[in-house]
Amino acid sequence: VIEISDLHKSFGSLEVLKGVSMAAPRGHVISLIGSSGSGKSTLLRCCNLLEDSQQGEIRFEGEPIRWKGTGPARQPADRAQVLRIRTNLAMVFQQFNLWAHMTILQNVMEAPVTVLGRDRAEVEAAARGYLDKVGIGDKCDAWPAQLSGGQQQRAAIARALCMEPRALLFDEPTSALDPELEQEVVKVIKALAEEGRTMLLVTHDMRLAHDVSDHVLFLHQGRIEEEGPPEAVFDTPQTARLQQFLSASR
Ligand code: ATP
Ligand code: MG
Repeated sequence: VIEISDLHKSFGSLEVLKGVSMAAPRGHVISLIGSSGSGKSTLLRCCNLLEDSQQGEIRFEGEPIRWKGTGPARQPADRAQVLRIRTNLAMVFQQFNLWAHMTILQNVMEAPVTVLGRDRAEVEAAARGYLDKVGIGDKCDAWPAQLSGGQQQRAAIARALCMEPRALLFDEPTSALDPELEQEVVKVIKALAEEGRTMLLVTHDMRLAHDVSDHVLFLHQGRIEEEGPPEAVFDTPQTARLQQFLSASR
């Protein structure tokens, strides 16, 4: 679904991604791990073009992003393409970012109705289904503030699912949660992985990355320092940096 090759991204003079290549094939779960500041969120945001990048290719479903300009002046050339990609790569953030003035059901229905222009009644039926699926079907008429953090994050996942995206991008979906609430969200993510959803997952939760991933990328200072299937990455890390990182995060 997503392929990136030799991606470079700087903020001013700070080079945050220094030639990253990765792929998220259909039905696979790819996890990104690495210490704070290594560039994980930036890489995720480059995938759905929330951030620009100065060099390297990004493909969505085999279709290369078209650029205009080069280097620091590079920008996506085709707005319609950007919108299509962004709506197909639904993001779930650490902070759930639900709209406080809308009920849970309205939150889930909003983008499919207003951005995609789908039929309201059909979207409502789908939204109720996704809320059931994440275990909060009884919270349709509640306001975000009336939900626990774990319930809010599950609502945010239902909202992403309701876009019927080609892939889900998660940026630390459990790190704002207390440990017991974290497990509710972990359960939902595991269920989505089992369904064969394509996902890119940035997480500090090594247990989760170990359990759900087909492939794990260890990012260190803007480069992929090591990668492989979860058993290899977690059980027999090859580089000293990954060994260090894993022993520090236990
Ligand atoms: P964390 O685990 O703390 O979330 P991360 O791996 O997600 O870290 P990024 O958020 O991708 O790291 O940040 C990588 C580097 O880019 C950091 O040095 C950060 O300060 C810098 N950075 C991120 N966003 C911006 C921005 N908008 N402007 C300038 N610098 C930025
Ligand atoms: Mg981050």
